[in-house]
Amino acid sequence: MASLEEINTIAGLAHEAFLVLRKSNFRQRAALMNTIADEIEALGDELIQAAHEETHLPVARLTGEKGRTLLQWRSYGAALASGSILDVRIDTALNERTPPRPDIRKTYVGIGPVVVFGASNFPFAFSTAGGDTASAIAAGCPVIVKAHSAHTRTARIMAEAIRRGVKKAGYPEGTFSQVFSSSREGAQLLVKHPLVKAVGFTGSYTGGKALFDIAGQRPEPIPVFAEMGSVNPVFVLPEKIKNAPAEVAQQYAASLTLGVGQFCTNPGIIIIPEGHNEFTDSLVAALAQVEPCKMLHEGIADSYVQNKATVSSQENVQVLLEASSSEKGTGAPSLALTTAGEFLANDTLQEEVFGPFGLVVTYANTGQLEDIARKIHGQLTCTVLGEEEEIRNYEDLLLLITEKCGRLLFNGFPTGVEVVSAMHHSGPFPACTDSRFTSVGPDAIRRFARPVSYQNVPDTYLPDELKNANPLGLYRLVNGKVTQEAVE
Ligand code: NAP
Repeated sequence: MASLEEINTIAGLAHEAFLVLRKSNFRQRAALMNTIADEIEALGDELIQAAHEETHLPVARLTGEKGRTLLQWRSYGAALASGSILDVRIDTALNERTPPRPDIRKTYVGIGPVVVFGASNFPFAFSTAGGDTASAIAAGCPVIVKAHSAHTRTARIMAEAIRRGVKKAGYPEGTFSQVFSSSREGAQLLVKHPLVKAVGFTGSYTGGKALFDIAGQRPEPIPVFAEMGSVNPVFVLPEKIKNAPAEVAQQYAASLTLGVGQFCTNPGIIIIPEGHNEFTDSLVAALAQVEPCKMLHEGIADSYVQNKATVSSQENVQVLLEASSSEKGTGAPSLALTTAGEFLANDTLQEEVFGPFGLVVTYANTGQLEDIARKIHGQLTCTVLGEEEEIRNYEDLLLLITEKCGRLLFNGFPTGVEVVSAMHHSGPFPACTDSRFTSVGPDAIRRFARPVSYQNVPDTYLPDELKNANPLGLYRLVNGKVTQEAVE
C-alpha cells in the first residue's frame, strides 16, 4: 500500500493539477479526453490478454468492453464540448428595473480531486480508465484511482496509457494517478484526505456504504457516488406468462446467466403469478444447459456459494436447481422458488446474490404484487413483462415500481446498459448512494461539477463559456431562450 507520505504527495500533485485544469475550457478538456482515448485505443493484445488472464472474462467480451470504454471518453468529451452537459445560463442585467437586476451567469467548475474505486466486473469500462475517471476529468477534476486488487496488471497498463495521454496533451502529472492497496484501511486514507473532494465507487454494498460513512464523518464531508448491489426484479403479468411461458423462461435464463451473472443489472428475482409450472420447468431446463464458468475472482465465487446457500436455506424456499459444478472458482446457474408471503416476511430474500442465481417469487393476486413493489429495496432497474393490453390495468403498480428504480424496462431484460445521453444508471438507496446522478452516459460528468454564478463580473474575467462573444459556440440559455448567438 502507498504510505501516508506517498498519499500526501499524490494528493498534493492532484491539487496542483486541479489548479491547472481549472483554467482549461470545455473544448480543451474534450481534446485531452480524445488524446487519452487515442492512447487507450492504441493498446493492443497485451491489455486484452492481461485482463483475460486476471478476470477470466472472454476475449470477445473484453474487446467489446474496450470499445465501450473508448466511447465513454469520446462521447463524454463531445458532450462537454457541445455545452449540452454543463449547461450555461445567462441572465443579463436589467438596469431600468427598480431595483436594477444585476448581470448573472452560471457555469460549472470541477469539484476538486476525485478518488475512484473501480469495479472487478468491468476491468476497462468501470475501472482505472472507466466512466468515473472519464467523467471526473471532463468536469475538470484530477483523478486518483485505487486499483482493484483483482486486476492489477490490467490497471497498470491502462494507467500508463492515461498518463501518456495526459503528458501528450500538456497537462500536469497529477491529473491522473493510481495507487495499489493491500489494506482497506490504507485505501480509506485516500477518502479521508483533505485535498480529496469526491469519490466514485462501483462494487459491493459493504464497500460503498463503508466509504460513504467515512466521507460523511470527515471534518469536511464530501460526496460519495457509490453504485452498489441490486437484484433488478422482473415483474411478470398474468397474460404474458400464460401466453409465452417457455419464451419468457428462455429469455430470463439468458439474461440471468450472461457473464456468469456478474452484472450489476443481473435480474436476480422474477415475480410471477402462481400456478405456472410450465414456466419453472422451462427455466430449470434452460439453466441446466448453461455450462458453469470461472467467476471474476475466488472471493466472488466463494461469496456466490455462500449467499446462494443463505437464500436457499430460508424457511419455505424450495431449491429448483442446484449448482452441479464442484470446480472451485466457478459459478453454476441455480434456481430457487418461494411465495410472495414469504418474500414479504423475510428481508434476507431480497439480498443480492452476485452470480447466476435466480429466485422465483409467486404471487396470488394484484394486491400481493403491489405489496412486493412497495417492499422491494431501491434498484438500478425494474422490469415489467406484460401484454400491451394488460399493462394499462397496472398503472398503480407501475407508479410503485418507478419509485424504486433508476431505469424501468418493458418486455426486455436489464443486462446491457447503453452509453447514451438518456441513460440513467443509478437508483434509490441501497442500489446507489445518490439516485439523482447516473454513472453511465455523459450526465455522469455532473457528479463532479459544481455550479457557480458570476454576478456582474467583467467579460474579460469570465470563463470562456460565459463570455459575451460565445467563443466556444455553445448553445446557452440566454434570458430564457436557448441560443448560440453572442450576447449584445
Ligand atoms: P468490492 O469488494 O466492494 O470492491 C470494490 C473496490 O473497493 C475494490 O478496490 C476494493 O478494494 C475496495 N473496497 C471495498 N470495500 C472497501 C472498504 N471497506 N474500504 C476501502 N476499500 C474498499 O467489490 P468487487 O470486488 O468488485 O465485488 C464484490 C461484490 O461487489 C460482488 O459480490 C457484488 O455484490 C458487488 N458488485 C457490484 C457491482 C455493481 O455494479 N453494483 C459491480 C461489481 C461487484 P480491494 O481491491 O482491496 O478489494
